Amino acid sequence: MKIANSLWFDPTMIYIGGQWRKPGHADTIPVENPSTGEVIGEIGQGSAADVDAAVVAAEAAMEGEWGRTPAVERGRLLARMAQMVLSRAEELAYLESTDVGKPMKQAQADAVNLARYLEFYGGAADKVHGTTIPYQEGFTVYTLREPHGVTGHIIPWNYPMQILGRSIGAALAMGNACVLKPAEDASLSSLAFAAIAAEAGLPAGALNVVTGYGAEVGAALSTHPDVHHVSFTGSVATGRHIQEAAAKNVVPVTLELGGKSPHIVFDDVDLDAALPTLVGACMQAAGQTCSAASRVLVQRGIYEEVRRRMAEVYGGLVVGPAPDNCDLGPLVSKKQKDIVSKFIELGKQDLTVAAEGKIRDDAPAGGNYVAPVLFADVSPDHRLAQEEIFGPVQVMIPFEDEADAIRIANGTEYGLVAGVWTRDGGRQMRMARKLNVGQVFINNYGAGGGVELPFGGVGKSGHGREKGFEALYGFSRLKTVTAQHG
Ligand code: NAP
Ligand code: MG
Repeated sequence: MKIANSLWFDPTMIYIGGQWRKPGHADTIPVENPSTGEVIGEIGQGSAADVDAAVVAAEAAMEGEWGRTPAVERGRLLARMAQMVLSRAEELAYLESTDVGKPMKQAQADAVNLARYLEFYGGAADKVHGTTIPYQEGFTVYTLREPHGVTGHIIPWNYPMQILGRSIGAALAMGNACVLKPAEDASLSSLAFAAIAAEAGLPAGALNVVTGYGAEVGAALSTHPDVHHVSFTGSVATGRHIQEAAAKNVVPVTLELGGKSPHIVFDDVDLDAALPTLVGACMQAAGQTCSAASRVLVQRGIYEEVRRRMAEVYGGLVVGPAPDNCDLGPLVSKKQKDIVSKFIELGKQDLTVAAEGKIRDDAPAGGNYVAPVLFADVSPDHRLAQEEIFGPVQVMIPFEDEADAIRIANGTEYGLVAGVWTRDGGRQMRMARKLNVGQVFINNYGAGGGVELPFGGVGKSGHGREKGFEALYGFSRLKTVTAQHG
């Protein structure tokens, strides 16, 4: 089925200055359905010149109606968009599920999450205040929170709706004008969102969407001298390019990069409570989650029991087409399937397979299906315990005590998220302090979700924080005003 038949926007057009336009390149980019391998439509291929036009439109918006829109009205616009997203949640979920292969129920959750970001940042738009600072006699000093101006947003394919929500939602709340470049494998929901923003009455140029290839559109946006802040979510390799470009332009960047997040299980765990999460925190989105709990560190005394019980859960995992709501859908692309399959082959050469899930027999042969694999007794320095796989693969690593757990947990170049399962309150607090990550979950694990919770990494996982109130500070700059009045 050609998806274009059911759309309320033309995916071959790009959105600049409140207008749908033909992109700079006549060649389009095919849209594949990862569940079947079929080409179901096409998106437009933007050019560097389109990025220039989008930046000019965003600058004009800052000088025009959008720049004069008060915070309370920006909040109302975001709230209106949230309502429209909710009323179209099923259509958006279907679109995303067909485009990136997410099981429908996960895509539905993503659509609701997009609305949640818009609600949260809509409500926050008029609640970020400056301060007054006691100074010398005869002076009044205060601070102003101002937008950066034109902000660039480059997002990946794994959670397009959530990531555009957290990034665009916070940037618009603070009054910036945004240029969004979605991933070439997942652009439909960003275009759908632009159509929703237009219908909600967002002033022209406040949001611009240019689809296309990273090497041209992404590079043009991140190196553009008139972009005042760049928010990037994606791989470490591309993140380095973004930061280099930002260094040349001397502008701030937020980098949300990869992870190799540990899930640490002490022997006093409530295992019945932990078990579904130990597996689910990696299997969500078929392991294509930056904060996936891909390393399971288990204290020696309960290691065998956890291994046996995780293997039981794996035995029941089913991989199948996105509409059928199996435990896992396909991976986003053939390229991603190849990357993950190579890691699995590599692991099978010298590691013990503790369990594998199943691909449903009737899953279409052209789909990008990968059966999940649990590897046991993995050395912390093995490649599979060090490198981000971004697929349904977990490694189990035994540890002896708290110090050992911390050493192993902190022993990769990443530092995004960590989960700790223990009933010992003192240990919970000690672990939370010693883990080199941006988020710690105690007796739970939130891969994705939690719009209120500041999120971001340390080390190669990146820097800067999105989500929560923290993002509003990142998407604004502080001005100090010192007035002498005698
Ligand atoms: P990627 O190749 O870095 O792509 C991310 C985005 O950057 C895409 O929109 C891509 O466009 C664009 N891009 C590619 N080359 C570019 C360049 N030279 N200049 C500017 N932009 C460029 O990453 P991916 O493979 O799509 O995504 C998977 C990675 O993202 C994983 O490593 C994962 O951990 C990370 N990730 C992190 C988070 C987080 O919040 N920390 C969330 C999700 C994903 P094209 O798609 O058109 O190439
Ligand atoms: Mg696709």
